[in-house]
Amino acid sequence: VSRFESITMAPPDPILGVSEAFKADTHEMKLNLGVGAYRTEDLQPYVLNVVKKAENLMLESGENKEYLPIEGLVAFNKATAELLFGADNSVIQQQRVATVQGLSGTGSLRLAAALIERYFPGAKVLISSPTWGNHKNIFNDAKVPWSEYRYYDPKTVGLDFDGMISDIKAAPEGSFVLLHGCAHNPTGIDPTPEQWVKIADVIEEKNHIPFFDVAYQGFASGSLDEDASSVRLFASRGMELLVAQSYSKNLGLYAERIGAINVVCSSADAATRVKSQLKRLARPMYSNPPVHGARIVANVVGNPVLFNEWKEEMKMMAGRIKSVRQKLYDSICAKDKTGKDWSYILKQIGMFSFTGLNKAQSDNMTNKWHVYMTKDGRISLAGLSSAKCEYLADAIIDSFY
Ligand code: PLP
Repeated sequence: VSRFESITMAPPDPILGVSEAFKADTHEMKLNLGVGAYRTEDLQPYVLNVVKKAENLMLESGENKEYLPIEGLVAFNKATAELLFGADNSVIQQQRVATVQGLSGTGSLRLAAALIERYFPGAKVLISSPTWGNHKNIFNDAKVPWSEYRYYDPKTVGLDFDGMISDIKAAPEGSFVLLHGCAHNPTGIDPTPEQWVKIADVIEEKNHIPFFDVAYQGFASGSLDEDASSVRLFASRGMELLVAQSYSKNLGLYAERIGAINVVCSSADAATRVKSQLKRLARPMYSNPPVHGARIVANVVGNPVLFNEWKEEMKMMAGRIKSVRQKLYDSICAKDKTGKDWSYILKQIGMFSFTGLNKAQSDNMTNKWHVYMTKDGRISLAGLSSAKCEYLADAIIDSFY
């Protein structure tokens, strides 16, 4: 008998489980809209040209494989903070940002959670309802208490702004408020610029600490600056804040695990101390981060030619997603004779669309139409080709009614 007898089977991951089921399906029209990864019009994975060029440069210069410092690649940390805030931002000029390279978005969030657990015992993290499924796992495992604030309104398939504001107001003073910087996952619904100002107002009023998850900078609108505007608004008000970054989507570096945690402090001195503690937390967890992705980012951002090419490729990716979003909407409207308003599909941003389909309807999408998606009604438009929009529109209308 095994010493591990008492260990029961863990449930499969809800998103990765969708991919498994998709693989097993042999139907020719099958479509995987589960996982959030960019695909070409031929529905193939995509390696950015700038990434290949940066990798060639790295090969030519013959870099070694020595350990990075605990904080990561210094050139990457500088580049990533400047990309996020803008190089001329006062938080950068005044050296008020503690930046540490992390294991992509997930690992950076996890490091921030460890910082909260250690230095803000008992403080709660407020997360949106719904949110990216892994947020809850991250805070649970870090032993950080969390609760939800209202975000999605099923009646309008839009933002429950009043619910959001009153829940943030009702939370204990000094809570952390987790916000998706842009392209909210899973809903694709972002606050308007005016709503962001009001969100900043209540957070400031309640002495909360904003905690941004930025997994899609440049990938949502196609502009790095526009997608960082929520974070920059909060920073411009002199607030202290946390920002986790990921290069999985915008540089297509999913498997390289490259991202960062940034803590904006009210003084350079505080930032230095926070950074030292982030390093202390990282050391026993994974010692130091991997170098390859960090060098790619540093090379792309640090080379004006590659940087411009990246911006063009990002616009191309965001543009392809926007165009299938439009085509899906047009196809649905042309086919649906009920007069239902589907405009919420167009108002959403980023790689995801919340279709408004419930669990039973989502099951119908999969069982009858071979369209694989999460059971909350989310589809990844990055996995959709324009050739398959008509088919998907038929599936959605059939499942909806
Ligand atoms: N945060 C959000 C909201 C996400 O959607 C994702 C990826 O899907 C991540 C963080 C982190 O991804 P990664 O760990 O690959 O950077």
